[in-house]
Amino acid sequence: MRPSVLRGAKNGQTAKCDRLSYAGQKWDNLLSMTHDVIVIGVGGMGSAAVYHAARRGCRVLGLEQFDIPHELGSSHGISRIIRLAYAEGPQYVPLLRRSYELWRQLEALSGERLLIITGGIDAGLENSAIVRGVLRSCARFHLPHEVLDARSLNRRFPGYQLTDDIVSVYQADSGFLIPERCIVAHVNAALALGAEVHARERVLSWTAGRRDVSVRTDRGVYRARRLILSAGPWTRTLLPALQNAAIPERQVLIWTQPLVPSRFQPGVFPIFNMEASDGRYYGFPVFSVPGFKFGRFYHLSQRGDADTMDRECHLEDEALLRAGIRKYFPDANGPTMAMKTCIFTFTPDEHFILDLHPDSSCRVAIAAGFSGHGFKFCSVVGEIMTQLVLDGKSAFDLSTFRFSRRAIRGAVR
Ligand SMILES: Cc1cc2nc3c(=O)[nH]c(=O)nc-3n(C[C@H](O)[C@H](O)[C@H](O)COP(=O)(O)OP(=O)(O)OC[C@H]3O[C@@H](n4cnc5c(N)ncnc54)[C@H](O)[C@@H]3O)c2cc1C
Repeated sequence: MRPSVLRGAKNGQTAKCDRLSYAGQKWDNLLSMTHDVIVIGVGGMGSAAVYHAARRGCRVLGLEQFDIPHELGSSHGISRIIRLAYAEGPQYVPLLRRSYELWRQLEALSGERLLIITGGIDAGLENSAIVRGVLRSCARFHLPHEVLDARSLNRRFPGYQLTDDIVSVYQADSGFLIPERCIVAHVNAALALGAEVHARERVLSWTAGRRDVSVRTDRGVYRARRLILSAGPWTRTLLPALQNAAIPERQVLIWTQPLVPSRFQPGVFPIFNMEASDGRYYGFPVFSVPGFKFGRFYHLSQRGDADTMDRECHLEDEALLRAGIRKYFPDANGPTMAMKTCIFTFTPDEHFILDLHPDSSCRVAIAAGFSGHGFKFCSVVGEIMTQLVLDGKSAFDLSTFRFSRRAIRGAVR
């Protein structure tokens, strides 16, 4: 990483508009400051960042390469789990509390239902990371919960037919968000506050100097005081240093028609997150699509670039997912109703990156590497990104998410 001037470039090439080159100087002369904050990527995180920056009174510009919303990144597919007793670490719980609060505020602002509480199951072998992790969060924050063996769970929620070796923790605050509507609600709220948002405008490169940032797109050049980078699976294209620290991975979702529909409705079927002996699964009650939604974390472990990722769904994808449904949710094993691909972006330790860029004089904040569990945090991440670029620090403890932590340092080029 070059210490003096930050650069981001398409496909890892050297940016043509490098501030060290003449082209960069020319922009400085030609352009007046167009905005206070530019947000690159108006997906889950970026839409929230645009809103929070506008709420703080900034002149903000959000730049999105596709439509708003769209189905090529990480934030589509009708539902995203939200859970408070966080298995991935108790340090996430304060962020989650604020997240829930902000989602409810956004619902009030938009007049739309975005967060549906169903209760949730975190399940796994007794010693699994999920079960130990969720109990640790419950203990640290005194979160009400119930521990259920497989028989009790299957009796109480008959859509579940978990095997005897699985222990479940039920937490009443869990549920799901409607991601496409969350993005639209954040963007609408931002526009109402005077934000500017451009879809179908791809950022080609950016630079950050001591006083400002410049962003070049396929339609123009913009200059601002601060930059928020929330490019999801395209992060490493815009920040090549993260080539091995924010890695896109193809995922596939399936919706199957329940054979006993009454067992898979939101009122009687809690969302789940389960680490079984043959894989890690997650799923949702029937909502919006006439099918039970099911996914397998990591799926076929197919890593690659976001632009060239296979977005088709194949028979082998269906077979893998159906094996899990057949084994643990046999009453949902009816005909396929829909399938979709989506992209996770993994960091080496599967914790997020939420930080100021270390070489940016506090001008550039990065929200990246959400490792398949980020959507529930979009609302609070938008607030955190805004705090970082405007205040130079956040009200939250972000030590787990530092750019400089060992897992990221080891992977940064
Ligand atoms: C199948 C699946 C299931 C998941 N389930 C859950 C769940 O249940 N609960 C949960 O909390 N999380 C879940 N996640 C994870 C969560 O959805 C992601 O962590 C979150 O959506 C990431 O948001 P993002 O803003 O980083 O990425 P995105 O929403 O993809 O946004 C990035 C945006 O940046 C834009 N962009 C990139 N490059 C450029 C450029 N050069 N110029 C302009 N725009 C650009 C992209 O087009 C995109 O719109 C799941 C993810 C997947 C794929």
